[in-house]
Amino acid sequence: ATPLVTAVSTSIGAKHGLLIRNRAAFENARKINSIVFDKTGTLTEGEFGITDIHEVSATKDGLLTIAYSVELNSEHPIARGIVKEGSKKSLERLEVTDYQNITGEGLMAKVRGRDTRIVSPGYMRSKNISFDVETYERLAQEGKTVVFVLEEEKLLGFIALSDIVRDSAKEAVETLRSMDVESIMLTGDNKRVAAYVGESVGIDKVIAEVLPQEKASKIEELQAKGRIIGMTGDGVNDAPSLAAADLGIAIGAGTDVAIETAGVLYNQGIIISPALGAILMSLSTIIVS
Ligand code: ADP
Ligand code: MG
Repeated sequence: ATPLVTAVSTSIGAKHGLLIRNRAAFENARKINSIVFDKTGTLTEGEFGITDIHEVSATKDGLLTIAYSVELNSEHPIARGIVKEGSKKSLERLEVTDYQNITGEGLMAKVRGRDTRIVSPGYMRSKNISFDVETYERLAQEGKTVVFVLEEEKLLGFIALSDIVRDSAKEAVETLRSMDVESIMLTGDNKRVAAYVGESVGIDKVIAEVLPQEKASKIEELQAKGRIIGMTGDGVNDAPSLAAADLGIAIGAGTDVAIETAGVLYNQGIIISPALGAILMSLSTIIVS
């Protein structure tokens, strides 16, 4: 690659809101036959709001106060949704110590000295902790993400949150289909929520309940089947899969780790433009040929 070609690709890219960080990876764009999307913050707005609180052995406000106090320590979109509600209600901030992430499954801390966990349905199943499955399934079927609040292994109740599916995500998937590019969702969220979002945007394949450390190997499995993968994501969790993909596409609002790992940074205000895949592929065809 001559400096001139580099300069041209950089300026054409910039016009479309693309910062090309890794030219060799960018040149793979025209060969891509699958695009893998992270769900939260990519196919959806990534802005959760609480829709339901289902109390079991606490009052609604008591449950929310505990969750709010713990989630103040987390940057996760779920945490931001819970914190937003707690701030709106001016809830008390309880003393939280020993805060820790349970990777891909939630978090744990001591709240006023008591062992507290806020966790996924997957965690509940893996520990055989029983809950009202019927209520949970109804919420999940509505596309809501449910988190369970435990104190000393006892279920205090659960909180359902919903996120907004982006219209532009649907258009992106349609554009990709017209170009014979398969679209795949890769998420840590539970299967029902993932299926709901997948149906809303018409995605070809959904891979759900994947732990952060497993995301990169899912990409490698697809590559072993001959797929050439473009991966888009924004979160800290997405960095290894952005690196594993043939082309990692970080979005402008993403975390620093995601941005540093990706081959291309897309920094248009809108996270997914329907034309993103098309732009990438035609740009790299023009520039490389
Ligand atoms: P995604 O692929 O959607 O980014 P993550 O791997 O970040 O998913 O999270 C997977 C699951 O872990 C969430 O759906 C949720 O059940 C649980 N989780 C993660 N972080 C938190 C948190 N701060 N509070 C409660 N639950 C969480
Ligand atoms: Mg994420």
